[in-house]
Amino acid sequence: MTYYEKKPEKKFFEKTLDDYRDSVWGCARCNWCQNQWGWNVKSAEFSEICPAFHEYRIFPYSGMGKMHMARALLEGDFSYEDAPEMVQFLYTCTTCGACEMNCQRIQDKEPLQVNETLRAKFVSDGIGPMPEHKRLIKSVKNYDNPWMQPRAQRDRWARKIGIKDISKEKADTLYFVGCTSSFDNTLWKVAQNTAKIMMHGGADLGILGKNENCCGSPLARIGDRETFVQIAKKNIELLNTCGAKEIVTFCPGCYRALMHDYKEIPGVPPLEAKVYHSAEYIDSMIQEGKIKIPGELKKRVTWHDPCHLGRHCGIYEPPRNILKAIPGIELVEMERIKDQSWCCGGGGGARTAFMEFAQKTAHKRISEAQKTGAQAIVTSCPFCEQNIGDALNKSDDGMEIYDLTDMLIRVLDL
Ligand code: SF4
Ligand code: SF4
Repeated sequence: MTYYEKKPEKKFFEKTLDDYRDSVWGCARCNWCQNQWGWNVKSAEFSEICPAFHEYRIFPYSGMGKMHMARALLEGDFSYEDAPEMVQFLYTCTTCGACEMNCQRIQDKEPLQVNETLRAKFVSDGIGPMPEHKRLIKSVKNYDNPWMQPRAQRDRWARKIGIKDISKEKADTLYFVGCTSSFDNTLWKVAQNTAKIMMHGGADLGILGKNENCCGSPLARIGDRETFVQIAKKNIELLNTCGAKEIVTFCPGCYRALMHDYKEIPGVPPLEAKVYHSAEYIDSMIQEGKIKIPGELKKRVTWHDPCHLGRHCGIYEPPRNILKAIPGIELVEMERIKDQSWCCGGGGGARTAFMEFAQKTAHKRISEAQKTGAQAIVTSCPFCEQNIGDALNKSDDGMEIYDLTDMLIRVLDL
């Protein structure tokens, strides 16, 4: 190879820090990874975009800081022994992708990819992840879910709703439910409502039941690539042989894993079925007249864009379309929305290892929602609902949180 031949592009899960050498050297220290676009700013209070930097106020917590840590490690400017705090800097990040979104647009660098590649290096060097993450990894290895719950309990949410088990009965559409909604009984209603609405719209729906596995997203985000790749391979084989032509999930973490992360593993076959998030699937059903909305719901609500659904996967309009299609709903927007949205604080392993930081970040989102005059925050992510919901439970904000399907099911004849 001569110096002017372009190196073949690698898939994300085979990249090492060395593949980002040019990128980390090219960081301009411009701070776009910490702030909203100037033209988007409506107030000083909600002008920032990186929850970690906003909370800790020193640069190693920002996207820019991760670029400089990576550069220093690559060039041998410091070692793990020089800065043991590096593990905390790396993992106090929700992988919200705000830094990546802004940097890509203006500087074409990849601070979040660098952060996740640093995490993978820390894990393979035995420096990371945090002890709480190690327990999560052990649980996924032993129970196929991060919540240390027995596999036999995975389909409890589905009893009494008359949904097919695809391993016993053929179905065109697989509903991939995800671990959090399968095992957290406060979220069963969301899993059930999503299934009921899609079946009401005519979907021939089935689930994997006890055979469903973790999608592997938490492992990908905390840097355990080896376990993530093993799980992804197992899932691809299961999903490609289950007979479904399409897969729908309501968990943005699962959606990103199935839609994007699996494609970034070298040497594995692609998923044969088309993958949808339930918001886009249900929105299409409404647009096509398969779901009619006879009722009315008088409520002033604001939409919280889950990072893994919005910034990571580009789904902004379908959930808003669903809310706008419900008579009586008034949708009012927060200052930071869509690709400039503020994270709930729960993602990327932050809630698992740094609960206080996760909850403070959620409280900031609640303040922003309150400024709109909305009665409720609506979202479509089990982690956002858990993290914002916990923050609401500990406050007297008077605000409520709902899943998108909680709103829709109330106005349908079901
Ligand atoms: S990571 Fe990107 S946005 Fe942040 S300071 Fe560096 S070049 Fe600017
Ligand atoms: S992913 Fe989010 S929390 Fe992490 S450094 Fe980037 S902007 Fe900050």
